[in-house]
Amino acid sequence: MHGTLPDREADRWHYHPKGPVPLNPLFSWPPRPAAVLRWYRGAWMEITSLTVCLLLALALYAWLLPPLAEMAVFRPGWMLQVWLANLLPQVAVAGGLHWWLYIRKGQGMRKKFDTRDLSRGNGTFTFKNQVLDNMWWTLGSAITVATVYQWGIYWLMANGWVPTVTFAEAPVWCVVWMLLIPMWSGLHFYWVHRLEHHPRLYKHVHAVHHRNVNIGPWSGISNHWYENLLYFTTYFIHLIVPSHPLHLVFHAMFQQVSPVLSHSGFERVIAGETEAAKAGDFFHQLHHRYFECNYGTSEIPFDKWFGTYHDGSASATDRTRAFKKQMYTR
Ligand SMILES: [Zn+2]
Ligand SMILES: [Zn+2]
Repeated sequence: MHGTLPDREADRWHYHPKGPVPLNPLFSWPPRPAAVLRWYRGAWMEITSLTVCLLLALALYAWLLPPLAEMAVFRPGWMLQVWLANLLPQVAVAGGLHWWLYIRKGQGMRKKFDTRDLSRGNGTFTFKNQVLDNMWWTLGSAITVATVYQWGIYWLMANGWVPTVTFAEAPVWCVVWMLLIPMWSGLHFYWVHRLEHHPRLYKHVHAVHHRNVNIGPWSGISNHWYENLLYFTTYFIHLIVPSHPLHLVFHAMFQQVSPVLSHSGFERVIAGETEAAKAGDFFHQLHHRYFECNYGTSEIPFDKWFGTYHDGSASATDRTRAFKKQMYTR
């Protein structure tokens, strides 16, 4: 059993979480209501990517985002504000985490998955430096594409050309839709990501993200232009599903900032002796090391259903390597 015998996989990591990588028990059969409750309590009642993104969204909506009515006509003022609402949280969270974990080395190696430090002097990366490469693809490419898409959606919302709701009209729907956005994002991500692993698209596009085998906070949305064009189509759901601007701000934070945490390379952020926040996601860390596994997220277990789930064990690594070989020799 994994975790009880000496595990070849554990030797490949500095910190290797015990037991199989957890998946959302909502989809388990027979139903496990207590486990589902624990899963969602863990996601919403602690400092996690979800709660950080929700707080950021509320703050941005309250203090930075212009009122919808202003966005009915394209004008530089509000467009700049929307760009800043994307740029500032990205710089604050990725910059802050990178500083704490990799510059200040505030928690040393505690809960760090990979033994290695981030790469410098490596020609694989733009500017021969992993962090500068990742900053360029994040702030240059990803934030630009995300902003342009949001400009379009806010403009359509402001003109009443797509369905919108207010909290006063539909309070229950506003909350339900907020809770469903991460689920939608996971569903969309799985399919887009699978497409990007088509060998041809992978080589020219998705390989930019996968330069990062050992990932850091800035790797989160360090993507090629074409990947960003695809990845951020997730926002187009707001053209169909009745939404409030706050839904789009939260969706943006979830799509842009939560990968910063999940790619941080550390399972938790530790301050002093306190485990302050959940951060890294071993599920996705495995994807960066072994590529052809864990395409989705642990929120909807597509990988389990389609046979590409890596549970963190040595046998799953063997299976993934065999699958990869066969994929590229067809
Ligand atoms: Zn990938
Ligand atoms: Zn990734």
